[in-house]
Amino acid sequence: MKVLDLRCTHGHGFEGWFASNEAFETQLAGGLVECPVCGDTAIVKLLSAPRLNLGNAKAPAETASTAPAQVPARLSPEARWMRAVREVIAKTEDVGERFAEEARKMHYGEAEERGIRGQATPEQTEALLDEGIAVMPLPIPAALKETLQ
Ligand SMILES: [Zn+2]
Repeated sequence: MKVLDLRCTHGHGFEGWFASNEAFETQLAGGLVECPVCGDTAIVKLLSAPRLNLGNAKAPAETASTAPAQVPARLSPEARWMRAVREVIAKTEDVGERFAEEARKMHYGEAEERGIRGQATPEQTEALLDEGIAVMPLPIPAALKETLQ
């Protein structure tokens, strides 16, 4: 399992989890690696300072991690990721394309607070983040997607 520091052409930094470097290259070539903030698929891999041991390298820019935090650390990153995605799916209501609308309503107290998931365009996601509404882009692993259909 590789955790790569990635960045889109708009300067959004994020982590991507891949089985291997080849898996990353393949997904990148297929346009499957997306910026979680803006959906950009022109992604570059950053060299990770700690792994290169450069000592006085600059601190990494703000990183929007796509990995949920409260998952036990004993599992492998892949298992943690799959589990986190399953949990999100189990605990959230699918509001589909009304996602941005529902998230905003909850934020402003016009709808009951609950876990929701759905689709939002990169513009909608950015607008929500601008308004201080916490949204987490969650690319569903292809393997899990198949079992859901
Ligand atoms: Zn971006």
